[in-house]
Amino acid sequence: MAVLLGRLGIKTVKDALYYLPYRYEDRSNPVKIRDIRAGSYETVRGTIVSSGLTLARGRKVRILEAVINDGTASLKCRWFNQGFLKKRFSEGLEAVFSGTVARNAYSGDCLVIDNPEYEIITGDDACIHTQRVVPVYRVTEGLSQRQFRNIIFSIVNTYAEDVIDSIPREIIEKNNLPALHQSIIRLHFPEDNLHMDLFNGCSTLYHKRLFFDELFMFETGMALQKKRTARNKGISFKSAGKMRKALLENLRFELTRAQGRAVESIIRDMRSPYPMHRLIQGDVGCGKTIVALLAMLNAVECGYQAVLMAPTEVLAEQHYLGVYGLIENIGLEPVLVSGGSRDRRMDRIASGEIKIIIGTHALIQEGVIFGNLGLAVIDEQHKFGVMQRSLLGKKGMNPDVLVMTATPIPRSLSLTLYGDLDCSVIDELPPGRKPVITKLFNSSQKDAIYSLLLGETKRGRQSYVVYPAIEESEKSGLKSAVQGMEAFRKIFPEFRIELLHGRMNAGEKEDVMTSFKRGEIDILVSTTVIEVGMDVPNATVMLVIHAERFGLAQLHQLRGRVGRGADRSYCLLIVYEPYGDDAKRRLNIMIKSNDGFRISEEDLKIRGPGEFLGTKQSGMPELKNADIVRDIEILETARTEAFNLIDASPGLEEYPLLGKSVEAFWKGKVDFCRTG
Ligand code: ADP
Ligand code: MG
Repeated sequence: MAVLLGRLGIKTVKDALYYLPYRYEDRSNPVKIRDIRAGSYETVRGTIVSSGLTLARGRKVRILEAVINDGTASLKCRWFNQGFLKKRFSEGLEAVFSGTVARNAYSGDCLVIDNPEYEIITGDDACIHTQRVVPVYRVTEGLSQRQFRNIIFSIVNTYAEDVIDSIPREIIEKNNLPALHQSIIRLHFPEDNLHMDLFNGCSTLYHKRLFFDELFMFETGMALQKKRTARNKGISFKSAGKMRKALLENLRFELTRAQGRAVESIIRDMRSPYPMHRLIQGDVGCGKTIVALLAMLNAVECGYQAVLMAPTEVLAEQHYLGVYGLIENIGLEPVLVSGGSRDRRMDRIASGEIKIIIGTHALIQEGVIFGNLGLAVIDEQHKFGVMQRSLLGKKGMNPDVLVMTATPIPRSLSLTLYGDLDCSVIDELPPGRKPVITKLFNSSQKDAIYSLLLGETKRGRQSYVVYPAIEESEKSGLKSAVQGMEAFRKIFPEFRIELLHGRMNAGEKEDVMTSFKRGEIDILVSTTVIEVGMDVPNATVMLVIHAERFGLAQLHQLRGRVGRGADRSYCLLIVYEPYGDDAKRRLNIMIKSNDGFRISEEDLKIRGPGEFLGTKQSGMPELKNADIVRDIEILETARTEAFNLIDASPGLEEYPLLGKSVEAFWKGKVDFCRTG
């Protein structure tokens, strides 16, 4: 039994108490047997007047038949291969049966219920499975609904009253929430059938109470984390801004107003004596890199090191190339630390001699030692959660931190994933950008695509072609980049066509990217390694093969690779049948909208928060019952209450019980709870 329960994630009594039904069935009103109708779900109550076993289908199936009579009529109920039930249904016993009524052609067209839920009424026995609103749980093979409900019933009866409520009473009262133990009891075994819709819609006050608790634990953790960093001593960067000014003078464009505002907030944060923890949100192409670079120069001018971390090596390379060109004139030189390269430069990073370091997120995980790190910029990673950020702190560093998100994220997510950060939004694209034209094609419409590629390439523009796989495999049956490149070379022998994918080594990748940037490649055939960050304004076509295979965020990112210059750009999505409804929805949204916020809201709806967040990578605690999308209002309330509480009691000194609960909830993911 423990193994079976373990499969449901139930290891402790507490797990069981919080394992909520996913729906409820109203079995509270017995109907007169005379009035039951075939096809509907009915509950009847009466006396068992006969029960016996018969054999059917060549004696292979043992059928137990019990007939129940309630004074208005009789009804036959049948169980298949469950002969052991016979001794339970002795004649004369009072019983309740619930199930779907069917018309049985074999026994004279009478009505029957097959495999009903049953309950034998014995004096003072409470009804668990019938004659009430009964909970229906997600169970697992080998564990019946009935067995499981029995277990939960006895656990709820035995332990629910003893559940300790660690949330301060004022908060519960202020929000008109019911008591915790009462909520748990009622959620498993509702009192009456008056609110079936609310129960089935997860919107009773009891639900609200449990969701609130979970989200409150979550947000209290966030608030503690934020308080802790705020109390840490940070660096007060006081620069004259000479380097920033020099950089801005070298640019061939002016910052947009939104970029300017973001830079201002950053410089203000950096000047304060506490570590900055700021999130920059902005749609693809809004120009986050330059904002980050200005922040980095601010740190460098004050004598500190700054590190820029990207999610992929390809993007790190590109940042390196871009940053290199921009700061050369100022007399600075960035250093790229990639996967394998561990060399003498490590010493120069450790000594603090190298000022600007660029690499992947692995930089902070792999024990690179910094001499005097002042600022860490984390680019394009919406899964880079609290845990990784707190790693910086664990390594004894307290740099200012700037996080830049790949996709604008819905409010529900920024409250959870980035709940401990201050936020700037860059809600403006550089002037002159035209929205990318997005079109859907099926695999038989290749000619239209080829002629567009031909036209754009002849005008000197460049294109990306993205495949879901590097090489063809029998199993997946997907088109692949390697074969795709060969095919394109045959179709366009006069064009320069190259390949880029994740299995190439760093040097090869760098060569290809550099040539593409320099305009020496017309068509770059690749996998999603180019998904984030790539910035080549001369590229005007993004052709995605097997678009039905890609996620929304991915498609939006890919589309963001084009439309970066003054020219009209195209995102062409080729789909291969058959594909499912989710894929259809994704593609539809892509065609309809260019707005990253809208797209990520939709993405969240399709994928659900668990997958969207990438809980495992981000190190966020898992939410068992609450759902940040459905429960966004509760989340906002829980957040306000949690942050107010931590303002008033920064270490939860007056609330040792709550401190323990929060700690258990976050299970050491972030060691910010040092109470009691
Ligand atoms: P993202 O926010 O997606 O990271 P990037 O930082 O890569 O965007 O910038 C996209 C492109 O826009 C780059 O070519 C960059 O040089 C250019 N850019 C950034 N800011 C401006 C601006 N204010 N005016 C014109 N072009 C800009
Ligand atoms: Mg970027």
